[in-house]
Amino acid sequence: MGDTQRWVNRLKQWWGGPDPALIDAGAGGELVVANIRLLVLNLLLLIPLYSAIRAPSGQEYVVGLVATLIAVLAAIGIRVVVRRGFYRPWLGFATTALDVSLVSVALVGYLLLNRPHMAVNSLVIFEVYFLAIGATSIRYDLRVCAFSGALAAGQYGLIAFYADSRWDLNGPAYAPFLDGQFDWPTQWGRILMLVAAAVLSMAIVGRVRRLRRLSARDRLTGLLNRGYFEHRLEAEISRAVRYKHQISLAMVDVDRFKRFNDSFGHAAGDIALREIAATILRSVRESDIVTRYGGEEFVLVFPETRPEDAVEKLEHLRLEIAQTLVRIPQHEATAGFTVSAGVASFPADGDGGDDLLDQADRRLFQAKEAGRNKVVGPPNLAVGTAREATVPEEHFAV
Ligand code: GH3
Ligand code: MG
Ligand code: MG
Repeated sequence: MGDTQRWVNRLKQWWGGPDPALIDAGAGGELVVANIRLLVLNLLLLIPLYSAIRAPSGQEYVVGLVATLIAVLAAIGIRVVVRRGFYRPWLGFATTALDVSLVSVALVGYLLLNRPHMAVNSLVIFEVYFLAIGATSIRYDLRVCAFSGALAAGQYGLIAFYADSRWDLNGPAYAPFLDGQFDWPTQWGRILMLVAAAVLSMAIVGRVRRLRRLSARDRLTGLLNRGYFEHRLEAEISRAVRYKHQISLAMVDVDRFKRFNDSFGHAAGDIALREIAATILRSVRESDIVTRYGGEEFVLVFPETRPEDAVEKLEHLRLEIAQTLVRIPQHEATAGFTVSAGVASFPADGDGGDDLLDQADRRLFQAKEAGRNKVVGPPNLAVGTAREATVPEEHFAV
């Protein structure tokens, strides 16, 4: 693979949105950000309140008070929504746009009050852009990080440009320049710092993504590992309870895999496991969860899927795997293998992840007892016998 191709792939991967493992973490991060946003805005509310107490006849604090109150209400609304478990990847973009724009609105407030130097030289308010950009690093989406930097740089650039063209900022009227003078090199420096903060956030997210991938995925097959899966299953069940959906779960086990390893070697066994993982991934939807649950055991979770549909899917998968051949390393030969599966569903077979796994495991055992290369679902469905296995005997020959 050429260097250019490698970079294109890396870019595609970066731009592809977060891994499912990170979407959860992003939802948690969104809640942390929602709490911090509310806290900061409540503290900011003290500034106009303080002015109101000190100089109740002044009008300036009214603008600040109303603007901050609106922002506090928005922050409360976001927090309620996020706490209820509503999370979509676009929410990160929306709340980041809000955070960055709140800072810009505060700076525009200075322009409206005819204090342009405060807008372009402000230290305290300008620094809040860095909070907004930094907060994107716990949403774990590189696109949100890049978006925050571009939005902050763009909005601030427009504010500086407007202030420079509308006022004679270095004119004698403003001497002795208590709020500083204006020059573009400084402004470009500030804009560059915003971009640099976004790049830093992206670098953090890139590192976290790598670590998360290593901790949530199985090295051999690239599927989710059991530890992470158990956490996902509980989350999926609570979602199903909330929205009154069904979930189907399948436990898939490779038949006589010990014999396969003994006949063809461990390396061929590893290739077979990778091949099975790839076949499963090709045949499921993106929202389905696929896990390497144990050595040669896989668990598949199909959200919003009826058990009969899951059994149907598993039947297709079983046939496809039965027709797969793996090349045996160091031999001019190929070998085939089969799988058996047990299917359980929520809520019919239980309302906890453990109940579903137990039931699926019991049905998997029945499939093994019935001669392997079978799918066993809930008894009333009577599926799994419709299409018998069609595995040519020579698949097992070296
Ligand atoms: P059954 O049809 O009853 O499931 O028989 P089985 O031989 O598949 O079941 P058993 O549990 O006795 O053996 C599982 C085998 O899976 C044993 C082990 O060598 C193999 N295995 C587990 N993990 C790996 C792996 O990562 N790579 C390879 N090559 N083999 C593995
Ligand atoms: Mg097994
Ligand atoms: Mg097995």
